[in-house]
Amino acid sequence: MPAASNTPPLRDTAIVCGAGMSGLLAAAVLAEHFRRVLIVERDRLPKTPALRNGVSQGAHVHTLNGFAGEGIEALLPGFTDELLAAGAVQIRRNKDVWFHDPFGPTPIRDLEIDSPSMSRPLLEHVTRARVAALPGVEFLDQCRVRSVTLDESQKVKSLLVATADGTQRSLQAELVIDCTGRATRLPGWLKDWGFGAVERQQLQIAMTYTSALFRPPAGWDWTPAACLIGPQPSIPRGGYVTPIEGGLWIVTLYGRGQDIAPANLQGFVEWSRGLPHPVIHERLAQTKLASDFHTYGLPTGRWFRYDLMDHFPGGILPLGEAICAYNPMYGQGIGLACAQALALQDGLRARSGQDLNDLASDYFAGCTARNQLGWSIMETADLMFATTEGERPADIEARWQFARTLHDLLPDNPELHRQSLRVTHLLDPPSTLERFKVMG
Ligand SMILES: Cc1cc2nc3c(=O)[nH]c(=O)nc-3n(C[C@H](O)[C@H](O)[C@H](O)COP(=O)(O)OP(=O)(O)OC[C@H]3O[C@@H](n4cnc5c(N)ncnc54)[C@H](O)[C@@H]3O)c2cc1C
Repeated sequence: MPAASNTPPLRDTAIVCGAGMSGLLAAAVLAEHFRRVLIVERDRLPKTPALRNGVSQGAHVHTLNGFAGEGIEALLPGFTDELLAAGAVQIRRNKDVWFHDPFGPTPIRDLEIDSPSMSRPLLEHVTRARVAALPGVEFLDQCRVRSVTLDESQKVKSLLVATADGTQRSLQAELVIDCTGRATRLPGWLKDWGFGAVERQQLQIAMTYTSALFRPPAGWDWTPAACLIGPQPSIPRGGYVTPIEGGLWIVTLYGRGQDIAPANLQGFVEWSRGLPHPVIHERLAQTKLASDFHTYGLPTGRWFRYDLMDHFPGGILPLGEAICAYNPMYGQGIGLACAQALALQDGLRARSGQDLNDLASDYFAGCTARNQLGWSIMETADLMFATTEGERPADIEARWQFARTLHDLLPDNPELHRQSLRVTHLLDPPSTLERFKVMG
């Protein structure tokens, strides 16, 4: 007779709406608990790394911050090596990055945080291949989620989807994860279901990204390899240049308000002359254009405060940009999605063999601290710019003073530098900076 197993039986079906990075990370968690994990995606999913309509941010710079790197590795062990083997370039912060914060240059030194650099299509391709190989995972692409219905006990009953030929299908699942990003319809559904309005915390950031790929000259030996010249309140243009797979470089220029980098070579290179430091302009002058230009407008950074709701339906949770769609200039989106996926993993493991009725409260409690940290990083920096509109927290001047003092202390304090980067990379909470007595 086979030995009795203590492992609880797998649950039946979970559905993930959206096959972006958060949908894939959610599926990686669900595959541990469900016999079948169905990922419903409106785009046709490419077989090779390629841009697709549903992820129109895919043409712009994407790096993994410290927490994203560690989080994906925890969910998909061995992932980093696979990504590097596929061509991603390992960037060590800040040894390999010439980084200017809003107060100017920061020291170039090894802060022991890895941050792989690759095109967004490659990142998604490698992640999708890993997730597709997990037991029970299936993709239903070219299929749009239309609506979700609840039963009389206010739990998800079914999901209505429409395939490319217009056929409608009803799908059933014990748990649905909404990973449809900025397109999420969950706030409207919650209202329709009688749960009321979710609070929307929002900043008008008025950002526009303009990006293209470039080929550097053979034998280039620029160090540090990557440059992230952040905007300053008096010079609000920013730019990022970083090596990616195929010997190419991706360059993203960040404009604010009406000051937008043109989507043509001459205008793009000329605009980069107005960055707070000439290094990106100088490098652009030595490279050859290797792609079309793409622009992406981001009018707002917003956070749906599901964590503040008194009641939440059973069987559905949002994850990724469906919750936190911040200003991506701070490179937090995938790290926050990882934090949420890990909170989902904790919630499911804690309920192994039990019903999932109270999963929402633990899930939101498990990821709110990092969502808050990401929000404060964006808010503190973006409110320095005249083009940003939104509520100014009462302590904003004190936060700016702290950030400026910290910046000035960095050259002589490698440990403070390392710890402050661990905070901005979402690895550690801000309280870990208290011991440095930055404000005396
Ligand atoms: C310009 C830009 C640059 C960025 N750079 C970085 C960076 O450097 N580092 C970083 O960590 N993050 C970055 N981000 C953020 C990052 O892209 C996202 O946070 C991350 O990809 C997670 O997004 P998501 O999967 O939640 O949503 P999305 O990437 O928007 O994916 C949503 C998916 O849902 C699908 N979908 C939508 N509606 C439906 C529907 N009704 N039915 C079925 N499918 C649907 C879409 O087709 C898409 O595939 C950047 C974002 C932008 C805009």
